[in-house]
Amino acid sequence: MKEVYDVIVIGGGPAGYTAAIYTCRANLKTLVIAGLEAGGQLMLTREVENYPGFSNGVLGPDLMENMKQQAENQGAEMIFDNASAVNFRKYPFEVYVGDDKYLGKVVIVATGASPKWLGLEGEKRLLARGVSSCATCDGPLFRGTETTVVVGGGDTAMEYALFLSNLVSKVYVIHRRDTLRASKVLADRAMKNPKIEFIWNSVVTEITGENKVESVKIKNLKTGQVSELKTQSVFVAIGHKPNTEIFADQLELDEEGYIKLYDGMRTNVPGVFAAGDVHDKRYRQAVTAAGYGCMAAMEAIRFLESGEAEKLFQTSTKISSPTT
Ligand code: NAP
Repeated sequence: MKEVYDVIVIGGGPAGYTAAIYTCRANLKTLVIAGLEAGGQLMLTREVENYPGFSNGVLGPDLMENMKQQAENQGAEMIFDNASAVNFRKYPFEVYVGDDKYLGKVVIVATGASPKWLGLEGEKRLLARGVSSCATCDGPLFRGTETTVVVGGGDTAMEYALFLSNLVSKVYVIHRRDTLRASKVLADRAMKNPKIEFIWNSVVTEITGENKVESVKIKNLKTGQVSELKTQSVFVAIGHKPNTEIFADQLELDEEGYIKLYDGMRTNVPGVFAAGDVHDKRYRQAVTAAGYGCMAAMEAIRFLESGEAEKLFQTSTKISSPTT
């Protein structure tokens, strides 16, 4: 008979590792399928200054290595590969990594979300060297600089622009249309801020700089005119994409693909929980993701203790025994 884990965590970011730390400490046999690029979005940043407990900041990859180590020290088994499919219609739940199948009484989905990028060469090369997708995380590194650029016209772009206006002398928001997608309250606040200037109907075509950002080239979509703007940083805020492809026909998702939650951290499938940016498009912080990981783990522990899992197991084995 194939081994059945108490908990399978899918995702190796702050939410997934925190969930695993909690379930292991509850003496639950826990498998973390951490992903090929384990660590999540913190692997894309350098200095993290807003994660509590590090008075002088911590490097994003170091923080994630420590979280992973902490989960391993508590007994979590790790697979550094991507989950390729799931079957939540069978119980125990099935999670696949390629051809390998893993069975779990509870699954915690913590696959996060990925920022969308413009797809420019300089953007990739200068990532964490002036290019960022998170103003809350990286904005303070540019405190006191002259200029910053925010790309996008949604709520995130407005929030970034407002946040950065307290740190940098001048914030340019470059938006591809002449109206904002952002909610009126945030848009009004940004438009009224004297430190924020909008460059409408325009796209960034190039980000220049050797080892750090030096300028952006901007094309006006109406006139075709290209101009250059000197800047020390570029914050790309053109949306995120939740990593939910493999759950599309298994879990209820909202219109943007984020997992819908009910009654705490429960998904629509009893025994499947979600934590972190995979359901949260509002806060998207490492510390909130870790908090959600803790919450999902506590719900999962209660679910297993309540006997709900046993009932599900008995029902399912009457219908079809899990294949070994
Ligand atoms: P979003 O609403 O999807 O906005 C993305 C923005 O980026 C849009 O203005 C879009 O332009 C632009 N864009 C997309 N692709 C682009 C490209 N390739 N090149 C240039 N521009 C591009 O994303 P978001 O701002 O991250 O917000 C996501 C969700 O979270 C929303 O529901 C939002 O309301 C919510 N949110 C809420 C808050 C809050 O309430 N405080 C804060 C943050 C986020 P177009 O407008 O032309 O499509």
